[in-house]
Amino acid sequence: MIDTHCHLDFKDFDHDRQKVLASCREKGVSTIIIPAVSAATFDKTIQSCAHDNSLKFALGLHPFFIEEHQPQDLLTLDQLAKKKRPIAIGEIGLDFFEKKLIEPSLKEKQIAFFSKQLIIAKHHDLPVIIHNRKAHDECIQLLKEAQPKGGIIHAFNGSIQHAEKYIELGFLLGFGGMITFERSTKLRALAEKIPLNAMVLETDAPDMTVVQHKGERNSPEYIPYIRDALAEIKRVPAKTVAQVTSENARRVLTF
Ligand SMILES: [Zn+2]
Repeated sequence: MIDTHCHLDFKDFDHDRQKVLASCREKGVSTIIIPAVSAATFDKTIQSCAHDNSLKFALGLHPFFIEEHQPQDLLTLDQLAKKKRPIAIGEIGLDFFEKKLIEPSLKEKQIAFFSKQLIIAKHHDLPVIIHNRKAHDECIQLLKEAQPKGGIIHAFNGSIQHAEKYIELGFLLGFGGMITFERSTKLRALAEKIPLNAMVLETDAPDMTVVQHKGERNSPEYIPYIRDALAEIKRVPAKTVAQVTSENARRVLTF
């Protein structure tokens, strides 16, 4: 299985990262994608994957940290995309949910940084890993204009119409711990409708944990809980979910 979105480079894992990785191997989580969030931590993200073939990094400037991003960071990203060959450009996108991020000048800055990073991805022929909250229409519009080679909409939580448009544009939709909660009725209904060959598994650890570890730090070790929840929702064997979602991730992220 592949955890297509995990912040294993965050300090939350500094004290037990190797233990977590050993446990992942035991549980069949063979690959973990680690997307960067800001230029200040690019080195740490790259380093965290340096001696372990099961870890793959993406590089990008996350909209949540839009206040700290500088124009220079886009140049750094462009250079590293060439020199270090990340698996994707990410985590990038739009967050129109957080109140502090939707003040007009910041909203504009979010759109500018997202657009420019889509151009960088296109230029280096890399897929993108997208964070999106409350901005699917804007995001789809920008993707249509920039036409990157596809990628993943992480923690997808839009409408079925949005899902169809993303799939048409060559994107996969990421599902995580939220679907393990019975009360996530809307998201579970969505997961039932979306074809399995357009889905990938992810944890977004250390955030967004599974019901089995409610209130605790999330971990890539919990991917099997997400696989099982999806298998139950779609009424297919867990093995099928593991196999198809892994093939999807390898196809779109090309590794
Ligand atoms: Zn993330």
